[in-house]
Amino acid sequence: MSKIIAVANQKGGVGKTTTAVNLGACLSTLGRKVLIVDIDPQGNTTSGIGISKADVEYCIYDILINDVHPKQAIVETGLPNLKMIPATIQLAGAEIELVPTISREIRLKKSLGLIRNEFDYILIDCPPSLGLLTINSLTAADSVLIPIQCEFYALEGLSQLLNTIRLVQKHLNTSLQIEGVLLTMFDARTNLGIQVIEEVKKYFQQKVYQTVIPRNVRLSEAPSHGQSIITYDPKSKGAEVYLELAKEVLTYEQAAR
Ligand code: ADP
Ligand code: MG
Repeated sequence: MSKIIAVANQKGGVGKTTTAVNLGACLSTLGRKVLIVDIDPQGNTTSGIGISKADVEYCIYDILINDVHPKQAIVETGLPNLKMIPATIQLAGAEIELVPTISREIRLKKSLGLIRNEFDYILIDCPPSLGLLTINSLTAADSVLIPIQCEFYALEGLSQLLNTIRLVQKHLNTSLQIEGVLLTMFDARTNLGIQVIEEVKKYFQQKVYQTVIPRNVRLSEAPSHGQSIITYDPKSKGAEVYLELAKEVLTYEQAAR
């Protein structure tokens, strides 16, 4: 059975892309077939995984707007079990171009439905907004993974995200679940980080992953080398924690069956 997980939070810089790339890479090294879908016009996942945007023939834009079959847009990454659908800056127009189109909220769902059985996990890296691209992602997904940065305003804006999730559950995707809440960029040297963890756990309770992602320089360096942490520095703390997260995701998956 395949599972589609949207990595979403309308705040930028909370670790969505870092999580999509590295959780995807770690799940793939644990033997799962993984597809990462970049649906952020910035295309950070695409370049972070080493794909040159200039060489992209079809991107997620063509799937959403031009009815290109998703198979035509899938590209290889350096890792055998990891493939991706890239995004280019072309996607920036999609948010507006989708507005007058038929079935504008369910285009990604329909399209991923054509290929989902070829993968164990499909991770969608959402843009930092709650517009039609994120709505398409939440509609296509079985669950949503919410990264939260361990900072002072951690919970600010989350009610808007949760409200959007509720609206999607009500009108577009009744089976959408919260996969988990991931605390990112934790700094053990500050009391603030610990306070944020407590606050988030109070709010989301058992939905919060045991694995907390610390600040790790190697994680921030890896994308500029076009690599996931698993190939860039497999011995780093960053690689260790994302592997731990991947195992946690798999554990919940098995428990749910
Ligand atoms: P988002 O996709 O939510 O905008 P990113 O994953 O791009 O967030 O992360 C924002 C920035 O923080 C990036 O430069 C990224 O490399 C860096 N970053 C993310 N997670 C970590 C981490 N655990 N440690 C250090 N830097 C990180
Ligand atoms: Mg991003």
